[in-house]
Amino acid sequence: MDDLIRRAAKDLAAARNVAALTGAGISIESGIPPFRGKGGLWERYDPMEFAIDALMRDPAKVWKLFVKELKEPLDRAKPNEGHKGLVKLEARDKLKTIITQNIDGLHQAAGNTDVIEYHGTFAWQRCMDCHKKYETRKVDISEIPPRCECGGILRPNIVFFGETIPAQAIRRSRQAAADCDLMLVVGTSAVVQPAAMIPGIAKDNGAKIVEINPERTPLTDDISDYLIMGGAGEVMNRIVAAMD
Ligand code: NAD
Ligand code: ZN
Repeated sequence: MDDLIRRAAKDLAAARNVAALTGAGISIESGIPPFRGKGGLWERYDPMEFAIDALMRDPAKVWKLFVKELKEPLDRAKPNEGHKGLVKLEARDKLKTIITQNIDGLHQAAGNTDVIEYHGTFAWQRCMDCHKKYETRKVDISEIPPRCECGGILRPNIVFFGETIPAQAIRRSRQAAADCDLMLVVGTSAVVQPAAMIPGIAKDNGAKIVEINPERTPLTDDISDYLIMGGAGEVMNRIVAAMD
């Protein structure tokens, strides 16, 4: 791993425009479980229980899951060394944009300034009837499901399975992928589409692709230049230290 850390530090030092694509794995060390894999939500739930259809059918039941499995862990979570490493890369004027699949807001909490939230954010709710938006921390959840002043039921401002990615997020992330000369791919299993295609866009435009993940992914053989196998926090710390 030492060789790869040094190689990444060198590649980052040479890069002028770095983008990062992040997934649930970068937030695991902040205590937020991923979907797939060990300790993941899908070990305990059927994904269909978190789907938009389920929410419309039985809003109270699904909102109870949101509170227990999303709101409470997200309220407690703080950025970890992985998030902070990306802040250091921005401070060194290397990292320009983060494209995250996460809905936890931890990149912004850590201090990164340009974050594309590809799957939306749980920090905001929106009314299913009139589309008015509410900041989640100001929403009264003493009554479940929480409601808009118009009486409509609130839903998280996230992209559920089967929903389309906001056009602006697609456009901006394509641009960031085309513009970067190095893309860090951190903590994503790279099986959720269309997010998993973003590193391919970067590669087609000549960027180096550096993966950080304790496991191999579908990108590892075909797309990534190399994989640094390890947790996001430790690997980011070691790369930044090697750059100094
Ligand atoms: P995923 O759950 O499919 O995969 C997580 C990946 O993280 C795996 O490849 C795993 O090997 C890796 N990993 C495990 N520990 C790690 C560590 N310490 N450091 C770095 N990587 C580690 O996640 P995904 O690819 O992001 O796709 C699932 C979808 O789940 C995303 O669309 C996202 O919206 C959503 N999600 C978000 C959150 C969040 O906001 N924190 C949490 C769960 C799921
Ligand atoms: Zn409303």
